[in-house]
Amino acid sequence: MIKCTVCLAENDDFSTTCFQCKAFLQDRVPNLNLFETSWQVIESPSKAFCRIALAEHKNYVLLLFSLLGVSLAFTAFWYFRLGTRFESLLDLIPAAVGIGIVLGLVAAVVVTGVYHLFAKTLGGMAGFRGSLGVLGYSLTPVAFSLVFILPIELLTFGMYLFTGNPHPYLMKPVSYVLLIGFDALIAVWTIVLAVVATKVGHQLSIFKSVIVVLVTLGLFLGGVVFAAYQLHLVGHA
Ligand SMILES: [Zn+2]
Repeated sequence: MIKCTVCLAENDDFSTTCFQCKAFLQDRVPNLNLFETSWQVIESPSKAFCRIALAEHKNYVLLLFSLLGVSLAFTAFWYFRLGTRFESLLDLIPAAVGIGIVLGLVAAVVVTGVYHLFAKTLGGMAGFRGSLGVLGYSLTPVAFSLVFILPIELLTFGMYLFTGNPHPYLMKPVSYVLLIGFDALIAVWTIVLAVVATKVGHQLSIFKSVIVVLVTLGLFLGGVVFAAYQLHLVGHA
């Protein structure tokens, strides 16, 4: 809540002028700058998500969802050892990027839809675009991992990362454990940010925010694995 300094009326966190006396409360946020906003998400998430919820245009959100999709595609190729279906990294990388972008854009609509529905059911305040904005920017660590960690993984293990023959752990155990550990950390960090995003963006309690995020995540991962089996991408063995 923001208290108006002129008439002392209580306004909600995302008002720019007082509903009662029209006095100035806080600056409008017309646009979001990708680097500035992602950096703020890392540095002071609560402030960042408040600005994102306030922003009139949720810039770069679809890009962030696309990067999530690409990151999930590479993870699936690694987890299901799909590398055996490709000649080399030069075939595998464009396939993973292409599938990933489509997956990411579908996720932006479907996952945000599910997330928004659950948040609203528990009393969430944001509109659909608000949900899309805060959820998209909570993916900042995933984008970071894709840009900085994935190239290191590809350079270190090449195709062995996706074929598992020989298993990359047997090649370079320390690097493998470090890189996989780092990716696990990125996943946990993203989930924590999504909870903060929900708490700030929807003005829900921490407990309700955790439920919204975990239910959304569970349904999404369940959906991806189900789709992978339906499309016969995996499960031939
Ligand atoms: Zn006022």
